[in-house]
Formats: sequence, structure tokens, C-alpha cells
Amino acid sequence: MSFRNALLGRFLSYTEFDTQSKLNGKSSPTTSGQLKLAKQLEQELRTLGLENVKLTKHGVLTALLPANVPNAPTIGLLAHLDTSPECSGKHVRAEVIENYRGGDIALGVGDEFISPVFYSFLHQHIGKTLIVADGTTLLGADNKAGIAEIMTALSVLKQQNLPHCHIRVAFTPDEEIGLGMKFFSMEDFVCDWAYTIDGGEVGELEYENFNGASAKVTIYGRNMHTGYATGKMINALTLACEFQQAFPSDETPEKTSEKEGFFHLSRFVGDVEKVELHYLIRDFEAQKFEQRKAFMEKAVAQFNQTKGLRQKVELEITDSYKNMYQTVQRVPQSIELADRAMRECGIEPLHKPIRGGTDGAWLAEKGLACPNIFTGGYNFHSKHELITLEGMESAVNVIVKIAELAVENP
Ligand SMILES: [Zn+2]
Repeated sequence: MSFRNALLGRFLSYTEFDTQSKLNGKSSPTTSGQLKLAKQLEQELRTLGLENVKLTKHGVLTALLPANVPNAPTIGLLAHLDTSPECSGKHVRAEVIENYRGGDIALGVGDEFISPVFYSFLHQHIGKTLIVADGTTLLGADNKAGIAEIMTALSVLKQQNLPHCHIRVAFTPDEEIGLGMKFFSMEDFVCDWAYTIDGGEVGELEYENFNGASAKVTIYGRNMHTGYATGKMINALTLACEFQQAFPSDETPEKTSEKEGFFHLSRFVGDVEKVELHYLIRDFEAQKFEQRKAFMEKAVAQFNQTKGLRQKVELEITDSYKNMYQTVQRVPQSIELADRAMRECGIEPLHKPIRGGTDGAWLAEKGLACPNIFTGGYNFHSKHELITLEGMESAVNVIVKIAELAVENP
């Protein structure tokens, strides 16, 4: 029995919830729509007959599908409820394009369109069913496709009574703003290893991510009437421009790829009196990551020394996440099983480093290996977001296959 229509129906119904998370939100989840979606999913998990279904007031939803064979391992599956704060997720009107003929795709009634000239991956999808938004919002395939895929896989395992391992499910809020795991309890998610279903194109399997930190540099100046400024004014803006020159100009996000790290000046705010420079520091290798942080400390110390400023430049570095690879390496079955499941579904695995962080990185710090598997989507966080129904079906097949194969190789 095909699950295609059920999968599409689930996904479309989830996109109707506005679950955009909010930067600097005070409560958690940061928006009420996330809780509404979580309640809907809680109901669905109960209807599917899962056990230990638990929704916390912070919008963390967990549940268990017990194994139907003895001595089976426990595998976790995660997806996030929220959509990116970078693009509106309100009144999403998803459009289903069957049998894509190639060429430009007009979105809604406005001027927005998606073209294979910019997105060459579209050429691979002729004849497939594409799902897009109407050009005014994102679609929310990141990560509602992951949720729909997990839900559908659970229902396939139940309905077809396939032999499977224990499966723990977690749907979490506020992933896009890095707060998703703040109220996550590892006690509700005891697994041998887990997967986030939050990647892009079919085949993606990711288990290495950046080490990340943010840095804030504060530079102080002294303002006065420009007519009396001679020898007295200190312009924090000019100092900030000069400070920025200390950084290697080719180690930025726009000039690096694959496993190359960078410094990213993400915000520059202030006036003559005071300037704040906000940086993101990223590197895959732990040692190089530490070197980058040390570089910043040295740059600030040297600047203070050469400028001889009365009010010194300040530096504040905060670690964000670590590369999950160390943890995943200790559980090689997590990669092997996903690889095998993909191949048995006729998909060639694409091992890729994540140039960012995931909830899996947080779990890895707690000792749980958690690689990331594809959803089938593209252009996340934008009005051009799209997903193929065939890609989503592949994700369901892979999840089902993982649950089945895990029983053979406990
Ligand atoms: Zn995501």
C-alpha cells in the first residue's frame, strides 16, 4: 500500500501552522504556533499507538514505538517544529506541481519565480511532483518535511507490522535560533544512537559539523564637536574599520567551502562613541578552532597595545557548539546502518560536512551520536524553498529500512 498521499497530506497540514521561531524570544518555545503544532502531533502519536507520549510546557514532544522483536537496539529520530526567523512562515500557501515539465516555476500571483538557470538541481526533477510556497513565505519543509517523514515511517512500520527496533521520537522547538535543546531531557530520549531528519537533497548523510563560537568586540571612542576635535576626538567607527583589517580577508564564509573555517563579521553597530563588532568563528578541527579564538584574543591585545587607548577594546567569546564527529566516530554503526539503508533503497549516500550546527551537535556533546539524514528539500530559509514528493518518499523508505535493518544488526 502506498503512503504517498498520506505523506503529502501530513506535510501540507503541518505547513499551515505558523511556527516561525523568534530571535531573542523570552519564553520557550518562543512562539505559540510551535506549541499548537506540537499538540496536534501529540494527538497523532497517540492515535498511532505510540507509548510514553510526553509534551512538556516548553514544547518538547517525545514518544516511543517499542520494538516488536526481542533484543533490538533503540534508535532516536528527531525533527524540529520551528521554521527560520529569516523568512515569514505565516499563512503559508503550499502549491503542488505535478509532473514538473522543466523551466521556470512561477510562485503564486506575484513576481517571484524559481528558475533552473539559478538552481540547476531542478533539471534532475523533471517529471516529479514539486511542492513550493506562493512566493510570499518560506514553505517550511525545513523541518516539517522531516516531521511528516518520521510520522509516515512510524505509521508504515505499524500498519505493515514490519519487524523493527525500538524507536524514540523527539520533536523540538526553536532549533533555528539555537535554543531547541535548552529544555530537552536526555532521560526522555534514551537511545543507542539517533538521527535528525533535517538535511537537504536525497542521499545526504552528515555527521561532521563546525565547531562554533560567537565573539563580540567593543571599541570605545570619544565624541565632540567636529570643530574642536583636533587632537581630541577618538572615532570608534574608524578604529573599528582599522581593527577589522587584522583579519585574513580570504577566510570568510563567502570565500571558503567544504571543511575550511572562517571568521564572519556578522554585525557592525555603533557611532563615534562606541562600536560593537559581532563575529562568528567556525572551524571543523578543534585545534584550528582554538587557534582562531586565540587569534582574536591576540588581535585585541595588539590593538590595545599599539593604540594605547585609555578605554581598552573589550572581547567576549562564547562557545556555541562543537563538531559532533568525535562522538559519532565512537558509534560507527550509526553511519554504516544509514549507508546500508540508503543503498538498499537504491540511493547512493552523499557524505557531506555541515557548514553549521544541528541539534545533533548538542546531543553529541551529551554523548549521543546523531548524524543528519536528508529530507529531500532545497533552498531552506527562503521564499524559494521547495521539496519533491519523491524525495520525501525516499526519506520515509530510508527511515523504515533503518528500523528494519537495526534488528538484524543489534
Ligand atoms: Zn532544519
